Parts: sequence; C-alpha cells; structure tokens
Amino acid sequence: MFHQSSEHVASYYARTYPGPIPLRPALEDRVDTEVSIVGAGFSGLHTALRLALAGKRVTLLEASRVAWAASGRNGGQALLGWSCDMPPLEAALGRERARQLWDSMRWAAAEIRELAGRHGFDADYRAGSLWAAVLPRRVALLQEAQREAVEKWGYDRMRFIPRAEMPEWIGSARYHAALYDPEAGHLNPLKLAQGLAAAIEHAGGCIFEQSKVLDYRETSAGYVVRTDRGEARADVLVLACNAYLDRLDRKLARRVLPVGTYQVATSPLEPELARSLLPRNHCVIDNQFVPDYFRLSPDNRLLFGGGCTYAGGIPKDIAAATRPYLERAFPQLRGVELEFAWGGHIDISMKRTPDIGRHGERYWLQGYSGHGVLPTLAAARAVADAILGDDELLGLYQSIDNPPFPGGALLAAPLEVIGKTWYRLRDRV
Ligand SMILES: Cc1cc2nc3c(=O)[nH]c(=O)nc-3n(C[C@H](O)[C@H](O)[C@H](O)COP(=O)(O)OP(=O)(O)OC[C@H]3O[C@@H](n4cnc5c(N)ncnc54)[C@H](O)[C@@H]3O)c2cc1C
Repeated sequence: MFHQSSEHVASYYARTYPGPIPLRPALEDRVDTEVSIVGAGFSGLHTALRLALAGKRVTLLEASRVAWAASGRNGGQALLGWSCDMPPLEAALGRERARQLWDSMRWAAAEIRELAGRHGFDADYRAGSLWAAVLPRRVALLQEAQREAVEKWGYDRMRFIPRAEMPEWIGSARYHAALYDPEAGHLNPLKLAQGLAAAIEHAGGCIFEQSKVLDYRETSAGYVVRTDRGEARADVLVLACNAYLDRLDRKLARRVLPVGTYQVATSPLEPELARSLLPRNHCVIDNQFVPDYFRLSPDNRLLFGGGCTYAGGIPKDIAAATRPYLERAFPQLRGVELEFAWGGHIDISMKRTPDIGRHGERYWLQGYSGHGVLPTLAAARAVADAILGDDELLGLYQSIDNPPFPGGALLAAPLEVIGKTWYRLRDRV
C-alpha cells in the first residue's frame, strides 16, 4: 500500500502554492547526525524544528516530498483535542494527568498561531472554529462538552451558539446549534509545512526528499537507516510515518489502520456568496459520527470534506462522491464547480487514541485517527523534549494503551466498514 511520488497530488494547496514548491535533494551518501527522523509530515517537521532549535544535529528523510501525505492535503482545521476526545485519555491517565495533556493541547493551539510570524512565513491562519450539531438530540452533547471543558479541563473559552443565532455563523439551515472555539482556527497546511521545513534548514537541520527509508537497524553505534542510495547514522531514531509506516516497522504498523479520506475545493465564489456561507470565516466540523467539515480559503473557495472510505481506498471520482454532502450542507451551491478533489490517508488506532512512544532511543508518533493538525505539534513537543532529556509529557502518552488491530489490517478493514455503516445509519435517525 505504500505510495511514493516525486510530485504532490493535485490538491488546492499544491496547485495554488505561491511559486514553485521547493525541491530538496535525495540522500546520496552517508550522513552522521544526532537524530534521524523518518517522515516529513507535521510530526517529523515539528519534532525536527524543536530539536534543531535546541542545537541538535538532525536529518529528516522523506520518501516523497515535504508534506506530500496527510500534512499537505488536510482540511487545515487546527482544532483543540484529540480524535478520541478526552474520556479515554482521562480513563488512562486520571483527571490530573489528563489535564496536563489538555494543557499541552492549548499550548499547541497558541504555538500554531505564532510559529509563522516567529519564523517569517505566512500560513493563512484564521482564528475560530465551530463544532455544529445536525441532529437536535446532539445539541445537548455540545452543551455537555462545554460544561466538561470548564469543569474538568479549566477551559472556559468556548461559547454555545443557539439555533436562533446560527444564521450569523453558518449560512445553512442544517445546523441546530454550535460551539464556538476562539482558540482553534484554520490554515493552509502546505504553506505551514514548507515554512517549518525552511525554518529547520535555517536552524541547521538537513532534509532529504525522495529518500524512502527501506529499513533500519540498531547497532552498538546507534541507529542506521538505509535508503536505496544512502545511509544515515544517528544516536536517536524517530519514526513519523503515519499511515505509511507499512513494512518499516511491522509491529508498530499493526497498531494503526490506514483509512482513505478526501475533500474538494470549489472554484472561487463571488465574495458576497462566500461571506454568506460563513459570515465570520470560521472553520466548521459537525458532530455526526461521520462528520462533514468545511471552511473558506482566502480566495473565497469552499473547501469541503465529508464521507470516508475504509479498507484504505479512495473513490475514483472524489468530486462526485463528495458533491451530495456539500450540497446537503449548502443547497444554494447546487451545481457549483468543484475545481479540485483529492484524497489522502489517515492512521486510525484501535481506540482512536494517539500512539506516541519510545523504546530505547527509538521514538514514534502515530495514531492521530484523522485529527492531527494540532495533535502532531503537541506530540512532537513531547518527543523532542524527551530526546532533550525531559520525558514528563511523553510519559503521559506512554500510559495510553494502544493495542494492535486483531488480525491486522486485512481483518480490521472489513470490520471497520461494518462499524461505519452502523454509525452512518445512526447519524440519520
Ligand atoms: C484529506 C484529509 C483531511 C484531513 N483534515 C484534517 C483537519 O482538517 N484537521 C486535522 O486536525 N487533521 C486532519 N487530517 C489529519 C492530519 O492531516 C494528520 O493527522 C497529520 O497530518 C499527520 O501528520 P504526520 O506527520 O503524522 O503524517 P503524514 O503527514 O502522513 O506524514 C508522514 C510522512 O512520512 C513519509 N514516510 C512514510 N514512510 C516513510 C519511509 N519509509 N521513508 C521515508 N518517508 C516515509 C510519508 O511519505 C509522509 O510524507 C486530515 C487528513 C487527511 C488525509
């Protein structure tokens, strides 16, 4: 299932990137640094930047291009929290330690707002998100989430938007209420990733593209990773491969299931029409089990994701598969041109909990389960700090049990399809 390419997919982000997307060399030789990181998505990039800024000599190896996979193709919604929400984290860690993890998520939300300015790039960050209820019976869930956030996690920034006020926030009759979160936001993920890559290089880190790591071995002199044309030795190895870990580490790979997901971008809308869809320019995700999520781009397109295929597949005609969901949310856009449609893979863990850990000096980050823009940053901080000698945050993640999928991906994928079909039905009732 592992894909590799010298070109980015034809996403809105890649096709509208200002200027050529920087091309970096492949590893052709032997390099020797302190840390080798495999995978240049957000997990690898944030880890590398934090380490490089702390003075570590870092080598980042990417099979395709920087942010070629999920990190360069996602919905750009920087939402606080993890895919699994807080209950499994509280169950694993207890209230106090779960609160520490939550605080690290708020740190990530603040950090993402400031990173671009600090390193001199622009990732089109816009503040504000809405978590919206489609079903009247799920309005109470929003209120409950708001109450819990205050009582358990000390987070009192969210505001409940009742039905009567919804037209001021979303130009659609589909939503009964929403929770507004001012600390969340949305951004252009490919611009963010390229900005991080440039910052890593500026801090002395080396990035190699089109350098797929074929295997790694632990030796008395540290970890040696091999690509088809070179080798990198380091004292520390970080695996940040997400859904593409594949054969590189089969044991770890069994703990995540690659799942296909996709989205579209309309052609630019008349500014007035765009404003009428999302008058405050916040991003939106609904609270259905299979959620729709959408936002506006700076050039007034609607970026919309909805629906998801299991068994790792992506439909042949993504635009046709997504259009009904988009038009259900915004009937006024019926027949709108969908200029870009693209897919990618997410890494679902069994309990949707993050799988961030360490064994000796080998670290890994995975299991974001479809929600990774902020979690990758929070997790990268935990891993980088542990490499630098402070493993308090990493210890929290290591207390979360992430079992392998029984029967591996072959058995897990059909089970996921059945589960998903059931939840889709519940979304309708
Ligand atoms: C369509 C889509 C929409 C999404 N929308 C959102 C959203 O709105 N908000 C949100 O929070 N999350 C969203 N996500 C999830 C989010 O994008 C991911 O959780 C996050 O980007 C994961 O980052 P990562 O660095 O761990 O993995 P990736 O970005 O997948 O990066 C892994 C990298 O490792 C490389 N690699 C793998 N194996 C090797 C190897 N052997 N050698 C060298 N390199 C290797 C791959 O080529 C890849 O570039 C979305 C995902 C998708 C696909």
